[in-house]
Amino acid sequence: MVQFIKRPGRFPIGGFVLFLIIGSLTCSSPDTEISDEELRSYVEFLASDELEGRMVGTSGCTRAEQYIAGEFKDIGLKPLPGEEDFFIDFTLYRRGYEEEKTSLEIRIGDERIEAHPGIDFRPFPFSSSGIKKANLVFAGYGISAPEYDYDDYKGLEVTDKFVLVLRHEPAEGPTEDYFEGSAYTDHSLFTKKAENAYLHGAAGMLLTTDPASGRGAEDLRLTETYSLSPYGFGPYSQEKPILAAHISQDFAAKIIEQTGFSLDEIQKALDSGLKPTELILKDAVVELQIERLKEAIPLSAHNLGGIIEGNHPQLKNEWILLGAHHDHIGSFTGEGDTIYNGADDNASGVSGILALARSLSGERASLQRSVVFITFGAEEVGLLGSRALVNMQFIPQRVKYMINLDMIGRNPDKPVQVITEGNAVDLRGIVESANEQSGLKLRFSNSKRSSDSDHYTFGKLGIPFLFFFTGVHEDYHGTEDHAEKLYYYRMKRILDLVREVILLLGSGLEF
Ligand SMILES: [Zn+2]
Repeated sequence: MVQFIKRPGRFPIGGFVLFLIIGSLTCSSPDTEISDEELRSYVEFLASDELEGRMVGTSGCTRAEQYIAGEFKDIGLKPLPGEEDFFIDFTLYRRGYEEEKTSLEIRIGDERIEAHPGIDFRPFPFSSSGIKKANLVFAGYGISAPEYDYDDYKGLEVTDKFVLVLRHEPAEGPTEDYFEGSAYTDHSLFTKKAENAYLHGAAGMLLTTDPASGRGAEDLRLTETYSLSPYGFGPYSQEKPILAAHISQDFAAKIIEQTGFSLDEIQKALDSGLKPTELILKDAVVELQIERLKEAIPLSAHNLGGIIEGNHPQLKNEWILLGAHHDHIGSFTGEGDTIYNGADDNASGVSGILALARSLSGERASLQRSVVFITFGAEEVGLLGSRALVNMQFIPQRVKYMINLDMIGRNPDKPVQVITEGNAVDLRGIVESANEQSGLKLRFSNSKRSSDSDHYTFGKLGIPFLFFFTGVHEDYHGTEDHAEKLYYYRMKRILDLVREVILLLGSGLEF
């Protein structure tokens, strides 16, 4: 049974009373009932192609924010104290590349092939800056692995030359057991390949995705870094002393063509023993330039916040903050499906916020503490929305409990993960009690390692939190994270549970 930390003189209760309370809370009336259909309609809009993946700073993200603000208004939430509306503004700083000074050109004999930044290639975030012109040498997978008696550089002369390498590892796949079979070793890491090229004296590295691991649209947007301060970027600590860029398969194919082979043929040959020394790229000269912007570009971003005020004169200043990020990772240029719809990540969580706001506004009378509903912006670029929010002095002072919803729509056969860190508060016990009626399968874990969503920002400040999560899946951060793949009835059950937890925490009892 739940263990309570009692404060003297305030609502001391025992398990039996708690049982009665839970028993009474679960009888929600039809208009406070959460329906799977409302969840579906929220997700279908937020994850539609029209919203283009809701990347911070894009019009698709703005449309999502306007939609959420409109729903907050219809539901009858009030803006947070000191705010005129539901938009809580903050400024982000974005640092990218100087596009005119970020270029790649390859000359093969008399032919000149130019690559477009953001489409045909992108610098790796760890690449150095500068310009270099040098011959190009094919270096297989770019791996030196004595423990597997494998070395792509054996017999190759690459000093002051560019190397062209394939992504991943030789002969990988579920049926192969070379290296570690289908599991990747560290030799697959981009940084490891760049380091290896550098150790062999190369001037730069061009990497292309090996055809065996995938074909189709490639996301080669210029990788930008974001910060809450224009000075917050610091030195590029992970920068390697080598120019390095990811190039598209199409562009790589144009280079490889001159050998008379296709990329597929080259990979198959490599996997059956071809040595990189046997594949000569005649007269291929690369000129690669990478230049970072000197100044960071300011960008306006938003969290959205609304409140249902509690009824108790003092306790209403203690907030239960329910949050879910509304931003995602956008879209890119190319053929086929190029939009990261982010239905599970995290239209699912936002739909939960909206449904809970509507449902709980019908339960105002029973709330002593206030319930605050936040959708965070800029989560995907480093939890920056939640960080901006807690930078507002009064926020961490008021938030008594934080509940985060991020990805609650998939893996219906696995238990719902509940990640918690309650300090002295037994949040796990509260969730278990609330779950006695609904009987969802739950898996609890401690937060220590979990810095992957916005609850972390609150946990770091010592605020007790709960994070509800149904786990990663093959469409995570992929273009196939679509609305029709979510399990809406399961989401409804999870949100029914969250609702009970909020009603308990909001009841004014001291846990
Ligand atoms: Zn997420």
